[in-house]
Amino acid sequence: MVEYARIEGKDGASVLEGLRDFLASLMEGQVVEAVMAPTRLPYKNVIMQTLIKDQAKLHGVDPLAPVVPTNAARFAAQLTHDETGRRLALVMRPCEIRPFVELVKLKQGRLDQVLIIGMDCLGRYENGDFLSLDKGDPSFTMDFYRALRDARGAVRNGADLAEACKACEHPVADGADIRVLLIGEDLDRGITLEGVTEKGKVALSKAGMSEAQRPSHREQALETLLKERISFRDSWLKDMREQTSDLEGLMNVLGNCINCYNCRVACPVCYCRECVFVTDTFQHDSEQFFRWAQKRGMLKMPTDTLFYHLTRMQHMSTLCVGCGQCTSVCPSKIPVSQLFRSVAEGTQRLFDYEPGRDVKEPLPLGVFYEKEFQEVAAGK
Ligand code: SF4
Ligand code: SF4
Ligand code: SF4
Repeated sequence: MVEYARIEGKDGASVLEGLRDFLASLMEGQVVEAVMAPTRLPYKNVIMQTLIKDQAKLHGVDPLAPVVPTNAARFAAQLTHDETGRRLALVMRPCEIRPFVELVKLKQGRLDQVLIIGMDCLGRYENGDFLSLDKGDPSFTMDFYRALRDARGAVRNGADLAEACKACEHPVADGADIRVLLIGEDLDRGITLEGVTEKGKVALSKAGMSEAQRPSHREQALETLLKERISFRDSWLKDMREQTSDLEGLMNVLGNCINCYNCRVACPVCYCRECVFVTDTFQHDSEQFFRWAQKRGMLKMPTDTLFYHLTRMQHMSTLCVGCGQCTSVCPSKIPVSQLFRSVAEGTQRLFDYEPGRDVKEPLPLGVFYEKEFQEVAAGK
């Protein structure tokens, strides 16, 4: 069994080629019969998660590009919730693996037939920014990694990484069988693969990889990255808590919500099969609007905005992984993920729960311990 393996390269492009060859070896060695990975598609040169059955189609795979058009956890669940017996490699980032683990706990996906290949994550740009920076030219990606290596920062043409990424303390792919190590690596020389689970180590062996050295610069680079991100996260969340310390503040943040529900659709852990907000419960009689307007003198349209967010927040605050997709898709530029994370941090701390940490860890709201929250039961 192989624990560490090396993909050598002379520049980023050859490393990417080596990654594709590795995926091809997994298919060739029948470790998996299909791969889902971010792939550069011929139309518009966009990168989207793509399910690949034909090895020859792996040539567009590009998991290094700093973009996550949409969180892949839900696709992983769609591909695995039925017992198909198909062996599948999933190439995902940490904020995609963690919600997938939560969906598995909710019985919306399965882990038994999948090999999770988790990318170290140095962040992503918003989709629109990436499209205008990348322009279909992969050299942008390589420049991105070189800039981070040389401490030149990620800002390009005024575009910076998504705020959620600057606040992300999970750049390492927990829950992966194999990790693609990028932190502290120089893509102009190569990268290292780490077999984390037994399944991952066996897969590296079957793909014909040879044992290599554990990378030496990783720990120091990881420590520096985490320090930077945690410092950003703490002031970012503090700022949101201050802004929303009362109802008026919360309404100020949410006031221009147009009830499009994009944030619900994009969220990888918004788990209800049928959302109550799109059922008849919220198809109010016309007269109802007049009654509300009568009571308060006026009525903001659309209605139910605060109720929608508070309901979603109640569902999400134990499970939010801080992926930032809700903010990315908001047409009204509402900092949804900053708001949800600011609440989730407290809830998750209270339950000592970290979404995606361990598939065996029960969902906080799915279990009840006799001794928990006695102060609530006692009415204190
Ligand atoms: S939230 Fe974290 S894991 Fe997700 S893209 Fe950003 S940095 Fe990567
Ligand atoms: S609420 Fe937003 S940040 Fe949290 S998991 Fe959902 S989409 Fe990601
Ligand atoms: S995406 Fe933005 S505008 Fe749409 S429902 Fe969510 S917060 Fe409101």
